[in-house]
Amino acid sequence: MIIVFFGPPGSGKGTIASIVKKQLGIPHISTGDLLREEVKNKTELGMKAKAYMDRGELVPDELVLEVLKKRTEKPDCKKGFILDGYPRNVEQAKTLDRMFKIDYIFNFVISEEEIIRRLSNRRICPKCGAIYNLISMPPKTPGICDQCGTALIQRDDDKPQAIRERLSVYKKQTAPVLEYYGDRVINVNTEGPNASKTASEKILRIVKGEV
Ligand code: AMP
Repeated sequence: MIIVFFGPPGSGKGTIASIVKKQLGIPHISTGDLLREEVKNKTELGMKAKAYMDRGELVPDELVLEVLKKRTEKPDCKKGFILDGYPRNVEQAKTLDRMFKIDYIFNFVISEEEIIRRLSNRRICPKCGAIYNLISMPPKTPGICDQCGTALIQRDDDKPQAIRERLSVYKKQTAPVLEYYGDRVINVNTEGPNASKTASEKILRIVKGEV
């Protein structure tokens, strides 16, 4: 089963994917995580991608496609996967349709005000990838990952200037993908108390055919 999680940065794609993937037994593929891994390992691709990422701009399509192809060819993707952060423009959406038959496209709906609040308070674990929020989901010990004890960091692109750029890129280049997908899109609200839990439950009911 191939599922696309679509939505602006900070709309909960990573958090909700980490809940849903356990229930469905398929991996969560985040192109942002794949690119950050390349940057961390200082690969040639990572070095090319880094400048775009730090500025909050989109990395060129051919570089993202290369990491995506490499990841989806791994054996754990045989039963499908949850895709988060791809497609980010209409060209990528067309490429994806040529590569796979997508079963579900969920669009995460959230206000810009809440996105800014979430991204500026987001902290991540550089080792295991766990995501925290200083207000709504703080770690048990300040600054330390609950799962692996590593010191948490703020992503460079979660700083104010990059957040503004990412939102502008989303509006100009990514949001038009919704028009391309048309009625294949299922909207899910990801704002408000308990939104991650409610949204995950809705998604699971739909993909399990319970609604
Ligand atoms: P994310 O973790 O999804 O917010 O992605 C972080 C950054 O990685 C983005 O701001 C882009 O610079 C880059 N990125 C991730 N996915 C894509 C994509 N599908 N196309 C282009 N750039 C991407």
